[in-house]
Amino acid sequence: MRLGIIGAGQSSCTLIAELVRGQFEGEILVFNGELNRPYQRPPLSKSWLKATADANTLSLLPEPIENHGSIQWVKEWVTSIHPDNGELRTEKASYQVDHIVLATGTRAKQLTIEGLPIEIEHVVRTLDDAERLKKHIDHAENVTIIGGSFLAFELAASLDHPDRSIRIVARGNRFLPQVSVKTADRLLGSTTASTQVDVQIDSYDAKSKSLTTNHGPVPADLVIIAAGAVPNTEIAMRCGLGTEDGIATDLFMQTPHPKVSAIGEVSLHHQPHLGRSERVESISEANDSATTCAKRLLGRPEPFGAIPWFWSDQGQLKLQIAGLCARSDDETCLISNDFDCVVIRHCGDRVTAVEAINGAREFMAARRLFENGAISLSALVEAGSVFDLLQSSRS
Ligand SMILES: Cc1cc2nc3c(=O)[nH]c(=O)nc-3n(C[C@H](O)[C@H](O)[C@H](O)COP(=O)(O)OP(=O)(O)OC[C@H]3O[C@@H](n4cnc5c(N)ncnc54)[C@H](O)[C@@H]3O)c2cc1C
Repeated sequence: MRLGIIGAGQSSCTLIAELVRGQFEGEILVFNGELNRPYQRPPLSKSWLKATADANTLSLLPEPIENHGSIQWVKEWVTSIHPDNGELRTEKASYQVDHIVLATGTRAKQLTIEGLPIEIEHVVRTLDDAERLKKHIDHAENVTIIGGSFLAFELAASLDHPDRSIRIVARGNRFLPQVSVKTADRLLGSTTASTQVDVQIDSYDAKSKSLTTNHGPVPADLVIIAAGAVPNTEIAMRCGLGTEDGIATDLFMQTPHPKVSAIGEVSLHHQPHLGRSERVESISEANDSATTCAKRLLGRPEPFGAIPWFWSDQGQLKLQIAGLCARSDDETCLISNDFDCVVIRHCGDRVTAVEAINGAREFMAARRLFENGAISLSALVEAGSVFDLLQSSRS
């Protein structure tokens, strides 16, 4: 079989590694639109942004796999796919394959702000974006980050410096809506950045070097837009697969076209843990969907059944989340002291996620409990900690 994988990010590299380890009999063509070798994205807003480390430290694949004889790296953007005749086109050439895997990920959402000079506008999605930010940050005294999610707060923590004022502004009515109010408050309490919600940005005033907003001028000689991500579905949409929300697949990562699969954060599929279809932007989703796809391509199909998990580093605080909850799910705080904090998200008595700040043991125990089956809130509250509940379920 000749396989064409579009994208060389987290999900693509996990798929490649699983296929090589599983002794896939065939050729693998990997189309990488970016010039860099495959790299990890999470450090771009965390440790790597603060350090002087070079790009090689971000490598995604061990060398023996990256240089494996079955893999051909094609440093070109794919412009269209034609699944019926197994054709894949780039600006330079056309390639023939037997099966296509779309692993195209997302791109940073852009905002149009009248008057904002391109030189001071940044996003952090790719290694090139992060390198560009590193080059400009030393000259910035007033950094404004637009966005209310983890990325905005990670960037604020990583760019923290006595000579720099950092502001985070968001359009919504609360920061970090992905997590409970308790967890969000804890993370917000640790930031040194000044924060403001309900912000409407009208334009940028170059004279005063500030954003004009409904809360008055916000000083900014460097602006980072961290307002979310847009799935790269265009090449799929042009051949009738996918929508602006993602590329729909079944639980084996197969799209409705038998010659096309989709993996990673571009794929939209049923999340058994959540009980509905959702596109999930996380490393666990990228890895688990890629592993599911690899098993199918190796002739050992197993449906996707992974328990999602997520982490974010916010300065000294490490947030880890086991499970996946709806934003409207209730919250019950299980542990809260000066150091750590564990909040349970639940829908009625069914626990959907466990959020742990500096609580690695609780997080690992929660992951194991989810893997063993459903967790009930009443049993968890009675046990007093996720760890104790895991111990008692074993005895
Ligand atoms: C700064 C940052 C910090 C993050 N931190 C965390 C974190 O702490 N925890 C966590 O769980 N997740 C984190 N994430 C999210 C995580 O990195 C992503 O969920 C993961 O990388 C998704 O993998 P993917 O393979 O779906 O997409 P990607 O890794 O984005 O890979 C997609 C690849 O496809 C390529 N591509 C797209 N279109 C084409 C085309 N037409 N032709 C050729 N190539 C194409 C792109 O260039 C890209 O290389 C972070 C993301 C960013 C940007």
